[in-house]
Amino acid sequence: MSAAIQLDPATLPDAARALRAEVRAFLAEEARAGRFDPSDPSSGGRFSPEFSRRCGEAGYIGMTWPRRFGGGERSFLERYVVTEELVAANAPVWAHWVADRQSGPVLMRYASEAICADILPRIVRGECYFCIGMSEPDSGSDLFAARARAERVPGGYRVNGRKVWTSYAHRAHYMIALLRTSPPTKEDRRHGLTSFLVDMSSDGIEVNPIINLAGRHDFNEVVLEDVFVPDSHLLGEPDLAWKQATSELAYERAGPERFLETIYMLQALVEQAGPEPDDRLAEGIGRLVAQLSALRQMSVSVASMLEAGKVPVTEAALVKDLGTNWEQALPARVRDLVPAPSVAPGNLRDFETLLGYSTLIAPKLTIQGGTREILRGIIARGLGLR
Ligand SMILES: Cc1cc2nc3c(=O)[nH]c(=O)nc-3n(C[C@H](O)[C@H](O)[C@H](O)COP(=O)(O)OP(=O)(O)OC[C@H]3O[C@@H](n4cnc5c(N)ncnc54)[C@H](O)[C@@H]3O)c2cc1C
Repeated sequence: MSAAIQLDPATLPDAARALRAEVRAFLAEEARAGRFDPSDPSSGGRFSPEFSRRCGEAGYIGMTWPRRFGGGERSFLERYVVTEELVAANAPVWAHWVADRQSGPVLMRYASEAICADILPRIVRGECYFCIGMSEPDSGSDLFAARARAERVPGGYRVNGRKVWTSYAHRAHYMIALLRTSPPTKEDRRHGLTSFLVDMSSDGIEVNPIINLAGRHDFNEVVLEDVFVPDSHLLGEPDLAWKQATSELAYERAGPERFLETIYMLQALVEQAGPEPDDRLAEGIGRLVAQLSALRQMSVSVASMLEAGKVPVTEAALVKDLGTNWEQALPARVRDLVPAPSVAPGNLRDFETLLGYSTLIAPKLTIQGGTREILRGIIARGLGLR
């Protein structure tokens, strides 16, 4: 492997084992109390302020953040364990997911102390939710083509434009938006974009639902018309947001949520296989588990690099590309492997529900958070091939 990609062997610390048991007990209690249904395949994509507040009380949000902002000052590897358990259990994490994973860290890096002191403790309590305003109708992969603009006015900026595919914009309190503040220069087409904290309750914001393939309302079009954003909500350097967006995406890309979103299909396959699967089925399950284990090892390695203060952009892209391709192929692999005649009629309905739902969401897995082609471009650049 080239020296340009570094995936150091990493193991989870001993403290992680006790934490894992604690999270499992928490999730079992939440499910028992009827606050979510682990057997509902769509549960993991749900937005539940109630569940997020419970996660906040348990200390599972802002785990790595400073105590002065309500955080737990724990390690990225401990956070990894919590993320892994929440996703594997199909817990309804979406209310706090974006803020915990990427918006909070962006604020800590680029926002004022006053904004951090106001917003971060509310995120940690599971009460304040964020969305990501990067993609636009004509600029998804090519973020540098963004046209939604922020023009200077007294005391701040006036924002006009459209964002699209904005997950849970209809429930979020804030958006971190990538906006054009200057035209690109001849020397650098990435120049001219700035990151802003946008209060979603501001006048001039309209959120229009987009229904996804599974018939759910998760993402939206967001229209911004003469929205006022105060100077204090500018995040980082004006015109230089491309640098910030790149490191933000490293947080987004390599977590266990990038290969566990449809993991219930593998669990269902193992259940269907029973204790004595035939050779073909045992070989198929073994292959899937071995691949999953390798992906997990790589993903833990990226978490350990974040822990060490690095920004593993190429490694994160590699894990996301391999992980999302693996989970996208999973429903079809399971369908090919499952011993149909042995499926008990009662279980068959559940199994087919899982298969149907995972098949419907599979196409999005290699699009959200960066498409396969874009990730491979980043990996090639990291390897010095372009
Ligand atoms: C479920 C889901 C949730 C999302 N949530 C959010 C969100 O919350 N906030 C947000 O900002 N965005 C969000 N997105 C948008 C997502 O980031 C974009 O869809 C993605 O970046 C692709 O952009 P696009 O749809 O404009 O496609 P395009 O960029 O038009 O790409 C179309 C195709 O062309 C390929 N392509 C594009 N450029 C190149 C190139 N240079 N070389 C080779 N191939 C190329 C792409 O790989 C793709 O296959 C979400 C998307 C999904 C599916």
